[in-house]
Amino acid sequence: MPIGRFAPSPTGILHLGNLRTALASWLSVKARGGRWIIRMEDVDTPRCRSELGDQQLRDLASLGLESDAPILRQSDRSGAYREALRHLHELDLLYPCQCTRKDLHMLASAPHLEDGLRPYPNTCRHREWEGFEAALRLRLPKDRVVWRDELLGPQDDDPAQLTGDPLLFRRDGLFAYHLAVVVDDGFQGVDEIVRGVDLRGVTATQIRLQEALRIPRSLYAHLGLATAPDGSRLGKRAGALGLEALRQRGSSTNEILGWLAWSLGCLDQPRPCEAADLVKRFDWSRVSTQSVQVPVAWSQ
Ligand SMILES: [Zn+2]
Repeated sequence: MPIGRFAPSPTGILHLGNLRTALASWLSVKARGGRWIIRMEDVDTPRCRSELGDQQLRDLASLGLESDAPILRQSDRSGAYREALRHLHELDLLYPCQCTRKDLHMLASAPHLEDGLRPYPNTCRHREWEGFEAALRLRLPKDRVVWRDELLGPQDDDPAQLTGDPLLFRRDGLFAYHLAVVVDDGFQGVDEIVRGVDLRGVTATQIRLQEALRIPRSLYAHLGLATAPDGSRLGKRAGALGLEALRQRGSSTNEILGWLAWSLGCLDQPRPCEAADLVKRFDWSRVSTQSVQVPVAWSQ
């Protein structure tokens, strides 16, 4: 049975882009009779707040998207991540990295390949460890990764060019994004990963980590992003609106769902609908790879 997932970080409200990704993932597995689960990516604890996670769950439920399994929280999963690191260490696939953030010119915890985030140049692979606190990185094999995206078609990536050796454990003692997400997807049997195209560039690296941990490869679909009407990226910083704010502007939940469904090729035009009515209409071949602009009335 296919298992899909939506894994938000409880660091803000879900905007239309997040909700669109959640709906696509839900529809894709439900159309094949599968299960859909929600996981809270609260591994970056200082920025996470449980009341934001609760709000996200309420928003998803109001659209008809509910988890078919109890909510897994990354903050409860340290033992599993430590075990995975121990396994990788036994395989001699880890090495300590003592680069500072300044050295790297990048935010070590950021999962997104945003502007300014460059691949790690593997500086510490051959460096003597000087015995003070270090992060841990995965030594990637040299070869390219060939994989398939349900939306974008065949892909052929060199992870060294995209991410470099990925960070798995941070020097501040937190487990890093790549480790948590791959271990949890494996643990929960997730075999289809739907997410924004901004994460396409980390896929080859995560596939390598799956292989090292003997986790079966997932199917992937990377959706075009939802943008503001001026084409700029939706995000907390850009003040993207959540469901509650859109309802306050007079839109019903079913109208919002209808727009999301239309943007995923399920409807010819936006009209109020319910999630369960959309399952038979969903088909990846009708989903555009392009970004979609949020209506002016629904933007800041
Ligand atoms: Zn380093």
